[in-house]
Amino acid sequence: EAPPPLVELRAIHAGYDGIDVLHGIDLTVGRGRVVAILGPNGAGKSTTLKVLAGLLPASSGDVVVAGRRINGARADDLARRGLCLIPEGRGIFPNLTVRENLWMMTHRGPARAEVEEQAVARFPQLGARMDQTSGTLSGGQQQMLAMARGLATEPALLVLDELSMGLAPIVVDDLYATVAAVAAEGTSILLVEQFARIVMDVAHEASVMVHGHIVQTGRPRDLEASLSQAYLGG
Ligand code: ATP
Repeated sequence: EAPPPLVELRAIHAGYDGIDVLHGIDLTVGRGRVVAILGPNGAGKSTTLKVLAGLLPASSGDVVVAGRRINGARADDLARRGLCLIPEGRGIFPNLTVRENLWMMTHRGPARAEVEEQAVARFPQLGARMDQTSGTLSGGQQQMLAMARGLATEPALLVLDELSMGLAPIVVDDLYATVAAVAAEGTSILLVEQFARIVMDVAHEASVMVHGHIVQTGRPRDLEASLSQAYLGG
């Protein structure tokens, strides 16, 4: 019997102040897969990730991790189950150094030296900046640090919310090359982006989200019609 997918969202409704902004989201992330949620500003992409990460309760529907329904699990419980969310805005501590940001992740993972080594191996630019205050890094370097922190927990699923936000295209390409490398090592990835081009080469599958609905799921290349409609209509 095949093992269940790593993560499934089933008919998720969720929102704020009693008003749903997600209207029945179904999404599956298989082991070792790179799955993208694409859609315009306000479509509900971040809200979907918040429900998955245990930061926002669903008003109905199920969150299933490795075949187990885990509705209402707290964020730290989900982290123990191998889910790591890197939020929009990146979630690093700007007043701490790069090294201090990395060291914070070692209580449930490998030792400090190992975390530093892995971070530098993946992101050589961080090597010379270990003692730099994180808030003074470039945007791309901050995203590298956020990813290095997330990967230090050795997650089964890395969730990336708008990795590309505010970054130059060449920096984004670089970060996505790392995403592809991480996926090739067997880590599943769920990523959210507003703009589709950059994920076409990295994602195995993608869902187009508009106004709290997923309007199509498929290979990224096959979604161009629904994507252009999503942006024109959105
Ligand atoms: P973005 O690119 O802006 O992050 P998104 O697709 O991630 O877009 P969400 O952030 O999930 O969209 O927002 C979906 C809807 O929920 C929007 O109408 C937004 O205004 C609303 N919303 C998001 N966060 C909150 C909140 N904390 N309180 C109330 N409404 C919210």
